[in-house]
Amino acid sequence: MPLTLLITGCSQLVTLRGPVPRRGRAMAQPRVIRDAAVLMRDGRITAVGRRTQVERHADAAGAEQLDVGGRVVLPGFVDSHTHLVFPASRAEEYEQRIAGKTYEQIARSGGGILSTVRRLRKAPAEKLREKARAFLRMFAAHGTTTLEAKSGYGLDAASELKTLELLRLLDKEQPLDIVSTFLGAHTVPPEYRGKPGGTEAYVGFLVRVLIPAVALEQLAEFCDVFCDRGAFSVAQARRILAAGRACGLVPRIHAEQLAHTGATRLAVRLHAASADHLEKITRGDIRALARSNVTATLLPGCSFHLGLGRYAPARELIAAGAIVALATDFNPGTSPTLSMQMVLSLACTQMRMTPAEALAAATINAAYALGRHDRIGSIEVGKYADFAVFDLADYREIPYYFGVNHCWLTVKRGEIVYSREMSLLPR
Ligand SMILES: [Zn+2]
Repeated sequence: MPLTLLITGCSQLVTLRGPVPRRGRAMAQPRVIRDAAVLMRDGRITAVGRRTQVERHADAAGAEQLDVGGRVVLPGFVDSHTHLVFPASRAEEYEQRIAGKTYEQIARSGGGILSTVRRLRKAPAEKLREKARAFLRMFAAHGTTTLEAKSGYGLDAASELKTLELLRLLDKEQPLDIVSTFLGAHTVPPEYRGKPGGTEAYVGFLVRVLIPAVALEQLAEFCDVFCDRGAFSVAQARRILAAGRACGLVPRIHAEQLAHTGATRLAVRLHAASADHLEKITRGDIRALARSNVTATLLPGCSFHLGLGRYAPARELIAAGAIVALATDFNPGTSPTLSMQMVLSLACTQMRMTPAEALAAATINAAYALGRHDRIGSIEVGKYADFAVFDLADYREIPYYFGVNHCWLTVKRGEIVYSREMSLLPR
């Protein structure tokens, strides 16, 4: 790959330059440059602006040129909430749910999250690696350049460490950046279920054994808890996240998806990086989030896939001044999509976010939620040369033409990691 690359022919270059994080009206200002160009050197951006300006830069003369032919260029998507590593789909359960079976009935017949846990524990690391690598290629093909990924389908020491070690390996061996989160508190594992004090015993195991082990090996940056009805209580989440914090893991939390529990207030009190889901938050929660630096990460793929009418109140969160991000929540049970473009469509039509707001939520605010806004999330001099080029003339057409992959080219740190043209060549 050339060390210096000049991209020209951008009908719209959407830079997302501006204050970080984006709140309120600032979310609706994507900063679009027409007939734009970007110059990058050694994986970083060295000039951005009108083509005529950028071409005058000292490095431009010797650069390799790539004309994107009047297409739209955006910062690469930052998907700040995924469950990347899992052994198999749960398509049969999807069919049963459509036919009217409840989650409890499906769980009794051996389905649900515990079926994923059972299969992941048995799966050889190499199988999981192959599957995750195929998904990562698809993330790149849909314009995502950085993603967060959680453990949480192992729920015993060996399987949780297996997952996190795999994430570390994947981060090294392929071009997308992967940010690891320990989610030992995803659900109570089968061997602790149905016993008096079982959940408390598992929390004790996480706090005393697994969290220190994960931190010692530096296998994760964040610690997450599924704090909801039927999972972990606010008191248990507080204990787990405090233990994580003591070991250097930054808290984030699955909050108020199935029921209102008070998890959002806990996130605010703990200065968590993010509170995710938020379908059942109250006005008081919205005010508390707006006064905090906790990112409200909305996951509309879940409500869509489960066929639920209720989405998180994005408009109220934005009006109050909360930091709003969007993510796929890519997982086999409730949101099996890895397309941030589809998430933008859902955010616009179901949550009434404008295309500009949705874009800010999927790039710069998501980068803020991962503590990486100094490197990614916008197209600015000094940041990583992470871009996605879309085969459209206007960025609003990305959510508008829903259900189709418009990504034409993906560049990660100055390197082409996906090209539609190349993928059409015979193998
Ligand atoms: Zn999740």
